[in-house]
Amino acid sequence: MKISVDEDKCCGAGSCVLAVPEVFDQRDEDGVVVLLDAEPAEEFHDRVREAADVCPAAVIQLSGTA
Ligand code: SF4
Repeated sequence: MKISVDEDKCCGAGSCVLAVPEVFDQRDEDGVVVLLDAEPAEEFHDRVREAADVCPAAVIQLSGTA
């Protein structure tokens, strides 16, 4: 699994950080998402998919099958 995020469209809601704090963080200044790990270990994949689903701005893109 590879993750990409479109920081320009992120509205800083933080749902992704709540779902997977090991993979997503937020910038202190404006709350925009910070991708900590673009290729997370398999144990995080379910929660990463959930984060992509709940992201209100739909800026979390996933690629790859694993
Ligand atoms: S859930 Fe989406 S909009 Fe909210 S901080 Fe994460 S990437 Fe940005």
